[in-house]
Amino acid sequence: MSAFVGEPLERHVGKRAAHQLAKLSLETVGDLLFYFPRRYETFAELTPLTRLFEGEEASFVGRVVDTRRAQSHSNRRLWLLTVVFSDGNDTIEATFFARSSGMLAGHERRLAIGTHALVSGKIQRYRGRIQVSHPAYQVLSDRAGGDEEEEAAKLAKVPTPIYPAGAGVATWKIEAAVRTVLSSVTEADIAEVVPEYLRRRLGLPGVVEALRRIHTPEEPGADRSARRRFAFEEALIYQVFLARARADAARHPAPKVAPRRGGVYDALIEGLPFQLTGSQLSAIGTIERALNSTTPANLLLQGDVGSGKTVVALAAMARSVDAGFQAALLAPTEVLAFQHYRSLSRLLGPLAIPALAGHEKGIAVELLTGSTPKAQRKRVLAAAAAQMPLIVIGTHALISDGVVLPKLGLAVVDEQHRFGVNQRNALRQGSDHSPHMLVMTATPIPRTVAMTVFGDLDTVILDRAPAQRAGVETFLVPADRESWVARTWKRAAEEIASGGRVYVVCPRIERGDGAAASVEALAEELEANPDLAGIERRIMHGRLSSEEKDAAMADFASGRAPLLVATTVIEVGVDVAEATMMIIVDADSFGLSQLHQLRGRIGRGDRPGVCLALTHAPPGSSSRARLEAFASTTDGFILAQEDLQLRREGDILGESQSGRASGLRMLSIRNDAEIIEQARAAAHELITEDPDLSRYRPLAEAVEALDADKRTYLERG
Ligand code: ADP
Ligand code: MG
Repeated sequence: MSAFVGEPLERHVGKRAAHQLAKLSLETVGDLLFYFPRRYETFAELTPLTRLFEGEEASFVGRVVDTRRAQSHSNRRLWLLTVVFSDGNDTIEATFFARSSGMLAGHERRLAIGTHALVSGKIQRYRGRIQVSHPAYQVLSDRAGGDEEEEAAKLAKVPTPIYPAGAGVATWKIEAAVRTVLSSVTEADIAEVVPEYLRRRLGLPGVVEALRRIHTPEEPGADRSARRRFAFEEALIYQVFLARARADAARHPAPKVAPRRGGVYDALIEGLPFQLTGSQLSAIGTIERALNSTTPANLLLQGDVGSGKTVVALAAMARSVDAGFQAALLAPTEVLAFQHYRSLSRLLGPLAIPALAGHEKGIAVELLTGSTPKAQRKRVLAAAAAQMPLIVIGTHALISDGVVLPKLGLAVVDEQHRFGVNQRNALRQGSDHSPHMLVMTATPIPRTVAMTVFGDLDTVILDRAPAQRAGVETFLVPADRESWVARTWKRAAEEIASGGRVYVVCPRIERGDGAAASVEALAEELEANPDLAGIERRIMHGRLSSEEKDAAMADFASGRAPLLVATTVIEVGVDVAEATMMIIVDADSFGLSQLHQLRGRIGRGDRPGVCLALTHAPPGSSSRARLEAFASTTDGFILAQEDLQLRREGDILGESQSGRASGLRMLSIRNDAEIIEQARAAAHELITEDPDLSRYRPLAEAVEALDADKRTYLERG
């Protein structure tokens, strides 16, 4: 970009305006140019004053014949500016209110007697006369001469941009500053990120033209092509980024994992304590076919909570081991990694063997997290380095911890939201192969998100839930109803007395200034609750050491401590079949998909589960609506769609403030599927033809900026 775009605003719009714009974090010319109007207002058809009717939105042109500024009679704290407009025959009064006289001075100055203005607002009747309060207006007489009527008629059709104002900066002040800056910007000042041939093909304006159309559209809708252009630009940058990562991966073939008879896979399926469902079998089949190829598989295993994804993933890992390769299972937290370790060991039974014992009769399953003892870590790393086929279970951090799996055939990633394309390439370290990837998720990912965040993912769906035969019923408990809340804790005691286990989930760990309940405060409160007397309990949260966490989980699972007060560390994957009840405190502090994940922890055995969600959200509020949706269905797919409606775009991809390339401004992941598709095709074309983008420097730079940025947000928890 040229220097112009980076220049401080002060130099162009003056000290005063620059100072005001700084309140909106607009510091440079570029900041201002990319600060887009939220919407536009267009003056309606012009109406002669005699034909203005009460109740209608109308626009008229008049000359100011009188102005009065005075204190309101009825409310002494209110000041009133009355401006009388005339069309030569009739008059109409426009009124402006403010809490101080000074706040009206601007209007009074602009609407001095003799001024012609185009006025627009809702017509009211007051004491028998028509008037208009706080109208929008444009002064006409300071424009170059000519016929004012004609000019007004033309002006009435020109959209007025309405900027996200706030911080005491009026939208028209922003507009004025933008116009000043726009008038001196040239093509040479702003890097053109979208290649010309693409713009021509798709009918998109260049960047400067697009900025003009966005800030100063000449007619309603003229901004549309410009917005489309910027949406496409964003999509293109992202898709080029993905296409590059894919191309990079494709240069390194995947190990071909061919099924082998009489290996651990066969023994595993034979020895399972249950029969695989049809849906699981078909998922395993699809995955096997994808692994039996040198094209790196990129699969999404999507199945609701309790649908039995773990065993499907294990089957795939067993195939990998049978073919002589290593497998890794990555979880977002240590608790989950440990849970997976337990589940896999249990599913494998006698097939789980220590590393270095040879893989003919079994699979070595090893846990590798931040708290794995040094000696064990060394042993596992040695086995991995010796190219032993084994399964390593760890947290996502495994990748950055310098763990090298030189024979990695398959990486399974649990709960994808924290995982992106770059990580596959990171997993490749120490080998020329790209591993196959299988991402497990309980939350359906809309196709546009799958394309945006992951490039291409082939989805494999598990549709039945063998583990939640019994089902879960959910009830909302208004937290201000003391008797209901008391009843909730009694219910917990009864549940435990009849052999169940109860999770109590809170939004935070420690007491804080916020209103949200904490594990520490609640554990103390429950201590004093006579209904719960004599019931062993444990607490669980992310700040406990992993030994403490394991111990707490083990005591809860065995029933020694049937009450567990926890944060959302138990959110995903925790599997205690006897857990039948969950009490979610301050349920309104959780998102819909999080609530669904939490609830999936109960009703996993034969007994039906009960989920009680305590909330302060008043009926009719949006939080309450979310909770009602939660209580009304256990269908993860329906909830995910509901969630997508309720969430802002930014939350899906993560948000970033730094630089326009990274924040999604124009692109709507939800609505712009077509643009995303176009961008994806274009990106593929570009990368195939010019892998280094040597002929498209501005685009290459935008992708690099994004890369640096994305790395942080895709990896962040
Ligand atoms: P999720 O898809 O939520 O990860 P899991 O893989 O943890 O579900 O499976 C939930 C429970 O269901 C586990 O205890 C698992 O052993 C059990 N399970 C999986 N498949 C079957 C099946 N076909 N029949 C019976 N139980 C199963
Ligand atoms: Mg799971």
